[in-house]
Amino acid sequence: MYYNFICNKCGEAFEIQASVSEISKGIKISCPKCTSNDVRRDYSTIFIGKKGGTDSGMVDLRNLSSGGCAPGCGSCGI
Ligand SMILES: [Zn+2]
Repeated sequence: MYYNFICNKCGEAFEIQASVSEISKGIKISCPKCTSNDVRRDYSTIFIGKKGGTDSGMVDLRNLSSGGCAPGCGSCGI
């Protein structure tokens, strides 16, 4: 899961990847810009564990037809 955060100190918006259990336990998160721990969750943008460009669908189709899978592909189940 990707979680969006906003730094209360410098206003930097960033995202981190963490599991739900890590988040619920309250892991320490620091701003990548000023390293402040004074950050808050940004609920205006939510990633459901998937990132990619607009051509990710085309890449998946190509991988299917060739029987292969791109490194790091998480959508084919291989
Ligand atoms: Zn900051």
